[in-house]
Amino acid sequence: MVVQTERDDATWYECETCGLLFDDESDAAEHESHCDDADPSYIQ
Ligand SMILES: [Zn+2]
Repeated sequence: MVVQTERDDATWYECETCGLLFDDESDAAEHESHCDDADPSYIQ
C-alpha cells in the first residue's frame, strides 16, 4: 500500500513494502505492484 507523506514542503508517496519514495502517486503504485511480487527474502 502506498503511503502519502509530507517532506520538505512536498508530498511524497512511499512504498510501504520497501520504503522507496516517489514524487508521483502513480509511479509509487506501479512500483509497489511489482514490489509485492519481489522475493520475500528481500523484504524484511
Ligand atoms: Zn517497494
